[in-house]
Amino acid sequence: MGRIISVASQKGGVGKTTTAINLGACLAQESRRVLIVDVDPQANATSGLGVNGNDQKTTVYEVLLGHAGIAEAILPTALANLDVAVSGQRLSGAEVELVGVMARETRLKNAIAAVRDQYDYVLVDSPPSLGLLTVNALTASDSVLIPLQCEYLALEGLTQLIGAIRLVQDNLNPGLRIEGVLLTMYDSRLNLSQQVAEEARKFFADRLYRTVIPRNVRLSEAPSFGKPIVLYDPHSTGAESYRELAREVLEHA
Ligand code: ATP
Ligand code: MG
Repeated sequence: MGRIISVASQKGGVGKTTTAINLGACLAQESRRVLIVDVDPQANATSGLGVNGNDQKTTVYEVLLGHAGIAEAILPTALANLDVAVSGQRLSGAEVELVGVMARETRLKNAIAAVRDQYDYVLVDSPPSLGLLTVNALTASDSVLIPLQCEYLALEGLTQLIGAIRLVQDNLNPGLRIEGVLLTMYDSRLNLSQQVAEEARKFFADRLYRTVIPRNVRLSEAPSFGKPIVLYDPHSTGAESYRELAREVLEHA
């Protein structure tokens, strides 16, 4: 049975998608069967893996609305062992269209159940909000990985996220755990990065990954080539750090 991990934060641009794609790719290179489920209408995980979701007949949108099974939304990627359940713009309508629909918070969980035994890891990339799509991601997951960008007031936004995780634990998914907190876009030249890292270490203790993802321009270039970093530039510091993260995630399991 695959472990389901959602990558979540209501803050935009903190490295959720970069982490979902590249952790997924590194786990796949460690011979794990990995599915990335893109539940963000921006579809950055889909396009970052070289797939255009808007050309796709079946996406996570049709799946959430109950018009298709998740298998129909899954495509292989350029990397062996790595598949993606694609998103597209249509998904932006789902939050509204699912209002008043039965069991709307558990739709993703039920959908993933159909393919879970085919994967070792299912990584869910969620949008920068705490709306119904993120609630579906958290409800479907065994654990949540929280990327924390090394910037001013990084910890401030976490209260809201932890609150949402509690709500989901209390009402929908009592087994939900925090998989780990990941420092992203770390710049060792900046005092600020070091301060955020220090604060996060105090606050999260052993829930903070030892691995820190540095700011690395190769990581930001890779998505426009539709490739994970391990294919785009396997020797970059970005690739090395996501490989290290994958080893740490495997250690935890
Ligand atoms: P959103 O909330 O919009 O979904 P996100 O949390 O998924 O954003 P990403 O898309 O992963 O964040 O990253 C935001 C931007 O920062 C992207 O352009 C990405 O390429 C870039 N980026 C992410 N991580 C790094 C890094 N370690 N070094 C340099 N650039 C990075
Ligand atoms: Mg994203």
